[in-house]
Amino acid sequence: MSTLLEVTELAKAFPLKGGGAIHAVNGVSFQQAAGETIGIVGESGCGKSTLGRLILQLIRPTAGSVRFRGKDLTLLPETALRPMRRHLQMIFQDPYAALDPRMRVGALVEEPLAIHGIGTRAERARAVAELLETCGLPAEAAARHPHEFSGGQRQRVCIARALALSPELIVADEPVSALDVSIQSQILNLMMALKRDRGLSYLFISHNLAVVKYVSDRLAVMYLGRVVEMGPAEEIYADPRHPYTRALIAAIPEPDPDRPRDHAVVQGDLSSPENPPPGCRFHPRCPHATERCRVEAPRPVAVGGRDRAHFVECHLY
Ligand code: SF4
Repeated sequence: MSTLLEVTELAKAFPLKGGGAIHAVNGVSFQQAAGETIGIVGESGCGKSTLGRLILQLIRPTAGSVRFRGKDLTLLPETALRPMRRHLQMIFQDPYAALDPRMRVGALVEEPLAIHGIGTRAERARAVAELLETCGLPAEAAARHPHEFSGGQRQRVCIARALALSPELIVADEPVSALDVSIQSQILNLMMALKRDRGLSYLFISHNLAVVKYVSDRLAVMYLGRVVEMGPAEEIYADPRHPYTRALIAAIPEPDPDRPRDHAVVQGDLSSPENPPPGCRFHPRCPHATERCRVEAPRPVAVGGRDRAHFVECHLY
């Protein structure tokens, strides 16, 4: 598979008024193949949403690069970025806030096409009808306003809008966490069908590992702005290596109460990204921390897996 995205040493520090900075993303590197779904998981505040926005250049990085199909987006001025944006789209967590309540659904889905000057009005109307159908909405939805729909249907509208420009990569930031559990699987099934039919790639951001497990080819586990473990999703779920990943996976509700499970839990709160701990950032919460962990930051170590594609940042390896 060809490389779609190459993120290298990406970092974002948000300066604080009184001095200092929030280091939301700190040296993240990975590659994504075309047609691949990478799940990005971690607690709220770990930097996963900031990472998604950095990749789309909705916010600009402090350091590092984001190459999409070989072109470094971080070097492009806004005017040169605009035509690139049709290849990279985003689905947000809250389908209520993401849609302008004054616009009809047809106009909302058509808007990206109109902005990019694609098609005549009649061609765009046909495209909108097709997109609504693809996303499981009736054609008459086009004449209605977002408030007339349920949360799940609104997320379908958001997906139709994101698909309008036939993107290659969609960054989906907690796309189902605002929805009823009964609706979540319908939206996930739709996203997976679209991936299959259109060869889409997703960066799927979520705090919910059960959801990410369902959709991801590979998994990136983030802690305080760093990817601390990354590898094939199946392998990480079967054999998590980083103590933080183990704790996250142990916390996934187990449908079979008789099945034995690891009882590792994450102790304490996430440290402040303004003042991250020295050494391994996870050391204040890690049951295996040693003196070395308190002073020396671990570097990525390959821990097996297909093509040595599984790595972990931890002194235990
Ligand atoms: Fe725990 Fe040390 Fe590994 Fe960090 S480096 S996760 S503190 S064992």
